[in-house]
Amino acid sequence: MYILVINGGSSSLKYQLFDMDTRKVLAKGLCERIGKGGRMRHNAVGRNKLEFDIDIPDHTFAVRLVVKKLTDPQYGVLKDMSQIGAVGHRVLHGGQWFSESVVIDDDVIAAIERCIPLGPLHNPANLMGIRACATVMPGVPQVAVFDTAFHQSMPKSSYIYAIPYKYYEKYAIRRYGFHGTSHRYVSGRLAEIMGVKPEDFNCIVCHLGNGSSLCAVRGGKCFDTSMGLTPLDGVEMGTRSGALDPAVVSTLCARLGKDASYVVDQILNKESGLLGVSGISSDFRDVNAAADEGNERAILARDILVHTIRHYIGAYAAEMGRVDAIAFTAGIGENNAALRENVTDTLGFMGVKIDKVKNLNPDRKEELEITAPGATVRTFVIATNEELMIALDTERLIKA
Ligand code: AMP
Repeated sequence: MYILVINGGSSSLKYQLFDMDTRKVLAKGLCERIGKGGRMRHNAVGRNKLEFDIDIPDHTFAVRLVVKKLTDPQYGVLKDMSQIGAVGHRVLHGGQWFSESVVIDDDVIAAIERCIPLGPLHNPANLMGIRACATVMPGVPQVAVFDTAFHQSMPKSSYIYAIPYKYYEKYAIRRYGFHGTSHRYVSGRLAEIMGVKPEDFNCIVCHLGNGSSLCAVRGGKCFDTSMGLTPLDGVEMGTRSGALDPAVVSTLCARLGKDASYVVDQILNKESGLLGVSGISSDFRDVNAAADEGNERAILARDILVHTIRHYIGAYAAEMGRVDAIAFTAGIGENNAALRENVTDTLGFMGVKIDKVKNLNPDRKEELEITAPGATVRTFVIATNEELMIALDTERLIKA
């Protein structure tokens, strides 16, 4: 079976086509600047890469373009559209309605719509992708895989904020957590690699990319996670502040004469994090290079990142009472050995010790154990694969 995985953004649409017999990606690409001009990148196995400007007025046109390229005799890998057995969609927010992936029907679409206040930027874009696929590929089953679903197993003490309870009851204001598909994939791989049953096993997954979150996984289920009502909470990120005293918002509002949505949406979401502290870049590679050259604010931005990651690892170890493994994943977690070394440097007290040579990962392995002899907590680098997870969920649900 061939499964198309779609990640719809407000002005972009990313796609990957999986052959589920081999679990390999046959083609992938991106339509961007949708509604504002348009550009497409398409790359299929054994074919020449394509990149070109084309007017893409909306998501339906983008999906048509994707199908056209996938079935193109020169650049495609399919004979015709009927070979696409199902479509799996990444959906940001499933609120409290979805604790797992689901086949999309009218009720599911209505529930994703009801979650728009919780994911105002992403859910409408995800819906555009879903509706576009329904128009272009009528009758092809579609599955929604939610970023929040894995975290629905958190106990109430992890997800209820200590604010008047009526706001949880009235407005569903609570911790939801994100990157759930990545945390589920990586914690599942850890259990497989270690040869243990997920239900017997506790781990901490550090998903460190442009957006970053940590997840405490107890008995194979999410127990706590660092992102909250929105993806702003938790560790320092590319442009997001991570956790801070909410009075920072009211103080900045008063000082700047701006309202809270400006301070939160603009300053804390877009101008903070690595970019805000370093004044250099939101990209960890740039900040790291400047820090290595002695730039003080870049050093500080990097130190804050290490500090906040350790903060959550320590908290999650204390909450769960036992940690069997820690995994690093996503752009920074997979690629930056120095950061992994810095983070784990102080964790010897809880049994974490890494092999500094293995940690360098000279062979660029996608899955690597970096535990040093004598450690009681095992440490791994695991390349995340949210798209494969979406494809696997889609296949399972369609076959069921
Ligand atoms: P992601 O959101 O998972 O794509 O990760 C993006 C982040 O990973 C950016 O901050 C990049 O600077 C960082 N990143 C990607 N490759 C590397 C690398 N080789 N070394 C350090 N950081 C990297």
